[in-house]
Amino acid sequence: MGVDARALLSAIGLPAWLIDAETKKILGVNDAFASLVKRPVEALTGGAALELVDPQDRVREGLRLGLQLGSPLAPEANQPGVTRLVVHGGPSLRVRFTSTPVPAVRPHGRLLIAHEIGADERAMSSSTKDATPPPRPSESGSAKVDATKRPAKIADAARAGTEPADNRDERWRTLFDLCPAPTCVYDLASLQIHAVNEAMVRLYGFDRDELLAMTILDLVAPSDVDLVNSIVEELRRGQWPGVLHHPQTIRHRRKDGGELDTELIAAPVSYGDLRARLVLHKDVTEQKRAESDLVKRARIDAFRGDLGAAMTADEPLPAHFDRVVKAMAHHLDLESVGVWVRDEVTHQLHLQASVGALDRDTARGAALDFGDAWIGRAASSGAPVLLDMWDPAMSDDEVAQAQKACVTHVAALPLVVRKRVLGVITASRSSAFPDELVDILGATAAQIAQALGTAFAYEALRISESLSRSVLGNMPTAVVTINKAGLIETANLATVATFGHAVEELEGRAFATLFATPEADVPALAAQSRGRGLAEWKGLRKSGERFPCELRIFQIDSLRGPGYAAILNDVSERYEVERLKAEFVSVVSHELRTPLTALRGSILLLRGGVLGPLSEEVMEMLHIAERNSQRLMSLVNDILDLERLHKGKMKLFIEPVHAHDIVGRSLDSVKPSADQAGITIDVLGADEVVLGDGDRLVQVLVNLLSNAVKFSPPGSPVIVTTEVEHDAVVFSVIDKGRGIPPSHKRAIFERFEQVYASDAAEKGGTGLGLAISKAIVEQHDGTIGVESQEGAGSTFWFRVPRALASKGKVTPPSSRPRD
Ligand code: ADP
Repeated sequence: MGVDARALLSAIGLPAWLIDAETKKILGVNDAFASLVKRPVEALTGGAALELVDPQDRVREGLRLGLQLGSPLAPEANQPGVTRLVVHGGPSLRVRFTSTPVPAVRPHGRLLIAHEIGADERAMSSSTKDATPPPRPSESGSAKVDATKRPAKIADAARAGTEPADNRDERWRTLFDLCPAPTCVYDLASLQIHAVNEAMVRLYGFDRDELLAMTILDLVAPSDVDLVNSIVEELRRGQWPGVLHHPQTIRHRRKDGGELDTELIAAPVSYGDLRARLVLHKDVTEQKRAESDLVKRARIDAFRGDLGAAMTADEPLPAHFDRVVKAMAHHLDLESVGVWVRDEVTHQLHLQASVGALDRDTARGAALDFGDAWIGRAASSGAPVLLDMWDPAMSDDEVAQAQKACVTHVAALPLVVRKRVLGVITASRSSAFPDELVDILGATAAQIAQALGTAFAYEALRISESLSRSVLGNMPTAVVTINKAGLIETANLATVATFGHAVEELEGRAFATLFATPEADVPALAAQSRGRGLAEWKGLRKSGERFPCELRIFQIDSLRGPGYAAILNDVSERYEVERLKAEFVSVVSHELRTPLTALRGSILLLRGGVLGPLSEEVMEMLHIAERNSQRLMSLVNDILDLERLHKGKMKLFIEPVHAHDIVGRSLDSVKPSADQAGITIDVLGADEVVLGDGDRLVQVLVNLLSNAVKFSPPGSPVIVTTEVEHDAVVFSVIDKGRGIPPSHKRAIFERFEQVYASDAAEKGGTGLGLAISKAIVEQHDGTIGVESQEGAGSTFWFRVPRALASKGKVTPPSSRPRD
């Protein structure tokens, strides 16, 4: 805190001017000085000091001021001299100056106080004891000074040219008391304080009498007593004969217990018989605090800068951590710093980077477990751990380690991202962690955690990306990804093998070019596919060859936005195998039919008694043989029927036919077995006319009815209904049997599919009935299906076109050859 020059000048009753010893410019004058040299204050301020000095005296005065250059607080500061001043519009004026350095106002500032002397008074001999000390307060009585009246009185006396000694004392006392800087006089021998001014009383809070009962050491804070003692010793030895501007600040204490940092300027004075020092105190507490705050802030800023640079550098993580720990140790005054990162597999902490002894020592051992030691505890709890070596939680080993590293306080801060602890940063010091430092460490931990989290996520993404890439790339099935515009983005090796195009030829090409019949667009195909394969697609190889291709297409999200992925299965081999199988079965069936017919004929002849009467046992055996040959025959017929249906060789004789006629004929055929099982079959619904092949539709309904009878418990009902649905008639067979499990609802319409492997043996049947029924219904442009609840029964239905002709005009079924 600088002292206000104007306040200082106006407080001095004598003519006074303030000059800068370096530039020798006038910094300010008071009114008394202005009236002495008969010039206005403004005209004087800022001018060259020497211009006011009579030319005869300039050399001497210049030398006097010049001597002080670079050493404004040189010992000759208090040296008086007689100078002639140029007075505006009159003769030069002889004055004696007292010159005092005032660094509190300006580093090179000097306060010159003029004592006007008569024309007869020639140069006075200089005396270092000229600074007459103020009378002791006890002598002067009141410590209070009437600042408003005294200056005027002194100025008057000064102008009178004669100056009684009393007045001089009075003036000095006034100057001492009014000096805005806290000032005191103390005895160098006893260190007893002998005089203090108002400013001193105000600054320290002790009243004047308390201060006068103290030594200067009583005012010094315990931490600086040694320092002051050593300075006093030097002064006593005469090491500093002149004015001393202490290079170090000294910490003083106030009455209220507060401490303040002071800068001291001390000058030797005679005080009665005592060898005393006049001491000017400058309170620099705020300045020091501001400076240290500034330094702290600058260091934190520098740290943040370094940290930011470390985090954004294009380097692998370990290099980031190296930079971070170095920046932390350097800027935050830490003895050691470490970054520990959690291993995702072992869940242990591994030291990734460190500075300082403590963490290096720790790293020599195995990796730390979560919860182990103070570092592991921060990881397991997810909260910062701050400990000193006296804490009972510290183990002997840890204390020994810390002692070796010369640290007393340790901190571990977890690196947490979205409630997951990814690691820990550790730090140690030889003193406690201030709150502010803990805050900075916390913020740094958050920043590192963020970087670590991002790096982990990036790594996980990279691994998953490379995994999917290699799985896709090496899959034996062709997979392509397609963008919104229907262009191929990526293709795997199997695509190349299947279609014969190189990857580069495929990328960017329209997806449709992979097919011989590109009809539907990609989104439509995806909607149609919905997770299941689309059969009957004709793939097109680069060679121009066509092949059956099963297509599965679905929506995906890629980095380039939403798109599609397609799985393309070359099913030519499967088709070929199926064709061969079907061909084989059909050949075998054909070949079986003739011998089977002969076999059956022979059995029937035997049973008819052609070769004479047979015993009962033989008859029984022949009955079994006949039943089985009958089963074999119907299997052969079913296989051949199915083959004909698939090849489109089975001709249908489509005509209007009454639904009830179909139902009636079917019931006739099923009745014996239903009666045998004690099952009644009811018919519901109006008689509608359908357009179809009566015999074939009877075949379908018979199959459904005999299944219902076969798979229902004895005595349960079966219902047949017929109903109109728009342009179709729906036949339904409802039973209360065991029902169909959901997994088999589609499959049972395929060839040789039965719900249980035991069905063929236990219930009879071949697993071909529903496949034949489906083929027949579909040849009628109809549909077939089942609704069922397992254990509660099934409803098998088929829908065939309705004849829109009137019921009465139904033509009788035309006779046709049966094959
Ligand atoms: P088959 O009856 O000759 O075995 P189908 O093709 O007619 O052959 O039937 C296939 C399978 O479907 C049967 O074996 C049986 O497992 C199941 N099934 C058919 N109808 C029913 C039904 N009404 N109730 C329960 N299961 C049935």
